[in-house]
Amino acid sequence: MSPPEPRRPSRPRCPAAPVMKEYPVRFTVDRALCCSSGLCVLTAPDVFDQADDDGRVVLLTSSPPDGEEAAVEEAVACCPSGAISVTD
Ligand code: SF4
Repeated sequence: MSPPEPRRPSRPRCPAAPVMKEYPVRFTVDRALCCSSGLCVLTAPDVFDQADDDGRVVLLTSSPPDGEEAAVEEAVACCPSGAISVTD
């Protein structure tokens, strides 16, 4: 009998992702609210990163690249501290 395959981390899934009405959407992050969970980075790594020193969010772009809109919506919904805000 072969050993079980190692489990790979999966992306977080948030069922209540908001629907952004129009693209391009712009958004901001409040680093003071960020609790360094890293969920946004797992969900949309082309848009979010974490600082090496404190693990808080770093915004790589304020507007999601084409094809990343759904991932960003999920990141906004997953953020446990409400640190990511969608702006007009
Ligand atoms: S998901 Fe929210 S709390 Fe977690 S690292 Fe990203 S901005 Fe910070």
